[in-house]
Amino acid sequence: MKRVAVLTSGGDAPGMNAAIRAVVRTSIYRRLEAVGVMKGFEGLIDGEFVPLTRSSVGGIIHRGGTILKTARSERFKTEEGVNRAFFQLKNAGIDGLAIIGGDGSFRGAQKLYEKGFPVIGIPGTIDNDVAGTDETIGFDTAVNTALEAVKKLRDTASSHDRLFIVEVMGREAGFIALEVAVASGAEYLVVPELPFSLGKLCDKLHDTRERGKTHSLIIVAEGAMSASALRAQLQDTAGYDARVTVLGYIQRGGSPTSFDAVLASRMGAFAVESLIEGKHGVMVGTMAHQMALTPLAESWQTKKRLSPEKLELVEKLSI
Ligand code: ATP
Repeated sequence: MKRVAVLTSGGDAPGMNAAIRAVVRTSIYRRLEAVGVMKGFEGLIDGEFVPLTRSSVGGIIHRGGTILKTARSERFKTEEGVNRAFFQLKNAGIDGLAIIGGDGSFRGAQKLYEKGFPVIGIPGTIDNDVAGTDETIGFDTAVNTALEAVKKLRDTASSHDRLFIVEVMGREAGFIALEVAVASGAEYLVVPELPFSLGKLCDKLHDTRERGKTHSLIIVAEGAMSASALRAQLQDTAGYDARVTVLGYIQRGGSPTSFDAVLASRMGAFAVESLIEGKHGVMVGTMAHQMALTPLAESWQTKKRLSPEKLELVEKLSI
């Protein structure tokens, strides 16, 4: 193996740059050349390669976003697109490719692997909805960004005796919502994984008030329902007057937390070491803090579950 390429794909996530840096520096440490692919699979199809040296990844470990840019590529979903990408990799003399992204990106990675190209996945998405790893790169930062906002809203909720509904990111999964709910001491959590019961929520709000608590905080994952739809239901059915905040894209940006910078560094380095050892078609991850490899296909075939223990905590600690 002589030349390793790296690309970022899907939604950007804080820590992707730290992972790029780790792939590049580990490659150079192992006397391999490193190459960046711009704009994910789109750039791969078009052969947008850039040489990466140890200094081209200097000063990026704490930068949010991705210096390689990211994209969603419809062309890569076609046989022709995958063939073109395969040709570009061979033509550029690349021997291994590290793909940083979510499970969608790994479906794409699998296509290249099935054509016989050595690929390895690095899970980078704020949603944490990728099986085969305890956490994905960017999740911890997104949770902390959301938590900072929720703590500020809690101040206002408590000063004005108000009910607040905060919508956090998570189209398919409630990992961010659950983590934020536990860490902020929220009264109620609405996630796509669990059926929503307006009656249960109203009972909870009623009990909370009976116990003398005058403000409440509901965390809702965007994939379950919008905060404004929930507000309307509460208003129409039970007359509750809630304030709504949608956190949106601020959760995707920013400097990675120390946890994400370390996780990304470990995963990037481990990905290159694994490629050198001939381990392909797999995704790097951490299981109980130890580095682990799982087949790429597991990232979309196995649904990662919310922790029942944490779900119970929201219920138990919000009395
Ligand atoms: P995030 O979780 O941040 O959304 P993701 O990697 O899951 O990240 P997707 O938009 O689902 O993001 O996928 C990224 C890209 O991967 C797609 O734009 C497409 O180019 C490629 N991809 C997804 N599914 C497939 C597939 N079945 N075959 C080939 N390529 C795919």
